[in-house]
Amino acid sequence: MKYLTRLIQIIFFLLFVFLIQRGKMLLWLAIYAISLLLALVFGRIYCGYICPMNTLMIPTEWLSKKLNLQTDRTPKWLQSGKVAWISMFVSIALMLFAKRVLNKNIPILLIWLFISVIITLRYKPSIFHNLLCPFGPLQKIFGKLSLFSEVVYTDGCIGCKKCEGVCPSNAISVKSEDKKAVIDTGKCFQCTNCSQICPSDTIHYSRNKKGKTSTVNI
Ligand code: SF4
Ligand code: SF4
Repeated sequence: MKYLTRLIQIIFFLLFVFLIQRGKMLLWLAIYAISLLLALVFGRIYCGYICPMNTLMIPTEWLSKKLNLQTDRTPKWLQSGKVAWISMFVSIALMLFAKRVLNKNIPILLIWLFISVIITLRYKPSIFHNLLCPFGPLQKIFGKLSLFSEVVYTDGCIGCKKCEGVCPSNAISVKSEDKKAVIDTGKCFQCTNCSQICPSDTIHYSRNKKGKTSTVNI
């Protein structure tokens, strides 16, 4: 599964480069719009498999760890949780202004690609994904409503927290009350990192309880 995921990510990354090189930014944004509808059924697959930023952030995080640059801290200016929404509105406004007034396309996707790499060199990927990415807020809303998702079958969970350590978006956490893991589908990219590492094999892609954290009993 891991290799298949990487292959899909690379294919979409190459498609992204191809489209951007040919000035077809709108086509990529159309893919993003379609992915929002798909998120209602399959969850945030755009973020886990299609997004060029996420694909580039994976080797960037590896490099950050190698160079011992990564910190657990969250920058103060991001802590309010509103910056991602601001990023989204400012990006849209800039694109419209450049197109309508200057008759130019600004390379907004490349700018965000650059920012995602810079941020991930210092901070955990979840910081960019959850607090800064302009594509995240809408994915979060649609992902929350997804019909299917990675789900923790709580009877099998032993509370080992291994899943927490591999989640790129901080979507899974073990509750202190009952020591059982729960997944926030609004944040989950359906990347399967957690299900691959779970020693109890208790995380599976299945029907989600709408709008709630995905904890079900068997
Ligand atoms: S890795 Fe599996 S068993 Fe361990 S806390 Fe996560 S869901 Fe529970
Ligand atoms: S909860 Fe699991 S599937 Fe969802 S993003 Fe985290 S590691 Fe990936």
